[in-house]
Amino acid sequence: MTRCADVETLMGRRIDGTAGPAENARLDAHLAACADCAALLAEETAIDEALAAHFGGAKPSTAFDAVLRQRIRGERRPVGGWIPDVLNAAGVLLVLVGAVPVALGWNGVTGIVVAATALAVGLYPLLLTTWAGDAGPGEPDPAP
Ligand SMILES: [Zn+2]
Repeated sequence: MTRCADVETLMGRRIDGTAGPAENARLDAHLAACADCAALLAEETAIDEALAAHFGGAKPSTAFDAVLRQRIRGERRPVGGWIPDVLNAAGVLLVLVGAVPVALGWNGVTGIVVAATALAVGLYPLLLTTWAGDAGPGEPDPAP
């Protein structure tokens, strides 16, 4: 039998009307044997129908739409946003070509430690840029 956790997505797809025949059959097989999931689906379906009855046909005002579009345009990357990438690449190249070979030429543990430190310092801005990019633009402000 399919586990309850495995049919959560299927229930959402059925409510949204996007479940295919195979998914519906799999969900029905689980619901026939699991009263908890059948009750949960009935409850979620009722909530979805109530929300659709209340908000069906709701459309944002023209002013809201204009403000939202303006805000999205403001979040686009500014012209020249590639400059930090070029500086990061130049820093990494400078460390790789300059500091690391010199430090490794010292021999011994000191040279390795200095080379590793220089490499870490050179890569840190690049990592920050990557992490900041992965984080995305952030959540919108909460409604007042
Ligand atoms: Zn279940």
